[in-house]
Amino acid sequence: MPHRYDWIVVGAGIIGSLTAWRLGQGRARVALVDAGPPGQKASGAAAGILSPSAEALEPGPLADLARASLLRYPDTVAAVVDDAVMDVGYERTGVVQSAWTDDEVAALRARWDWQRDWGVRWLDGAEAERLMPERWPVQAALLAEDEGQVHPPQLVAAAVRAGARRGVGQFFGQPARLLVEGTRAVGVSLPDATLWAEGGVIVAAGAWSGLLLQEVGLQLPVVPIRGQIASFTVDAPWLQRILFHGHTYAVPKRDGRVVIGATEDAVGFDDRVTAAGLARLGRILESLHVPLEALHLERIWAGLRPRSADGLPLLGPWPGLDGLYVATGHFRNGVLLAPITAEVVTDWVLGRKSAVDLAPFDPGRFAKLR
Ligand SMILES: Cc1cc2nc3c(=O)[nH]c(=O)nc-3n(C[C@H](O)[C@H](O)[C@H](O)COP(=O)(O)OP(=O)(O)OC[C@H]3O[C@@H](n4cnc5c(N)ncnc54)[C@H](O)[C@@H]3O)c2cc1C
Repeated sequence: MPHRYDWIVVGAGIIGSLTAWRLGQGRARVALVDAGPPGQKASGAAAGILSPSAEALEPGPLADLARASLLRYPDTVAAVVDDAVMDVGYERTGVVQSAWTDDEVAALRARWDWQRDWGVRWLDGAEAERLMPERWPVQAALLAEDEGQVHPPQLVAAAVRAGARRGVGQFFGQPARLLVEGTRAVGVSLPDATLWAEGGVIVAAGAWSGLLLQEVGLQLPVVPIRGQIASFTVDAPWLQRILFHGHTYAVPKRDGRVVIGATEDAVGFDDRVTAAGLARLGRILESLHVPLEALHLERIWAGLRPRSADGLPLLGPWPGLDGLYVATGHFRNGVLLAPITAEVVTDWVLGRKSAVDLAPFDPGRFAKLR
């Protein structure tokens, strides 16, 4: 039986599931497709931190996009939760970036010069110490009180359920292949069905997005970067805020667990946990001066982040092939960037101008035509 849609979204991670839900709010006929169950890849592995201040090391388009997405979180979560009737663990826990050496203090101060406009506060030694776990050798810190976290697997589950309630057709456990006729992407083929797209196909297949395009002769420079990460139960509450030191972090979860992360390994599509990852997480734990005896390993896992050749997401139509759109390459921040991504995709579909400047994220910067 032929299935006809306006828009087909390939990939039911956080990017695809939130985008399909958002598209489904209008009158468009939308399908969401995934090779496996939704939310089992990078989005299921993420710590769920929502922190433009700790992740954007310099001002620029990515920092602006991240901040715009953070500001959309409360409304997005409220709407998804309303549609899905399930909690997604969204909290404004607050994020602290800590500096332990003179060089780190200088770097933090440079960052504060532009992050203060976001309401980020500078904390000197004594003030910072009050927010830190015992034994943290902190000299100064930045505090972003409006940043926080979400529980990514629950957010994906909620977006999928909310999408279903908005009429989004769902095809899970079926790997998609792009269907191209002439100079147009016309749909996807699944093992059990063919889905036709009258508007277009949106590729949100995370680290696998490049493989999908490769099958039709297009080069999309997105590679997998594995992250290994672990959660611990704790004897006594030990952490109130999300704490960063450099790129390493400790996240207090609502149920009392603490998540520590994460490694960055360029090892292709291998998403296994390794002894080297375990050792690296051990070094992160030691370097974070956490009370090691009071933390009990609960789980260690890994996921593949989609990283583009220049580290910026790819958001927009693919030049030279009508009806093909990409929304991927979110690397370390796909959970944070999901609300703004869903919004800008909806803007293309409705022919609206986006509230953010999308030029830096134009996939055309990499596109090699067939
Ligand atoms: C350890 C770790 C910690 C992280 N922590 C954070 C964090 O704290 N905050 C944050 O913002 N980000 C974090 N990230 C990054 C974030 O997880 C990613 O940027 C985000 O999940 C990417 O979402 P996605 O939907 O693009 O990809 P994915 O979640 O990987 O989803 C892609 C989907 O596409 C499907 N797919 C692939 N090929 C096909 C095909 N041919 N047909 C159909 N479906 C297909 C896959 O099955 C998958 O479900 C972290 C990542 C890792 C690994």
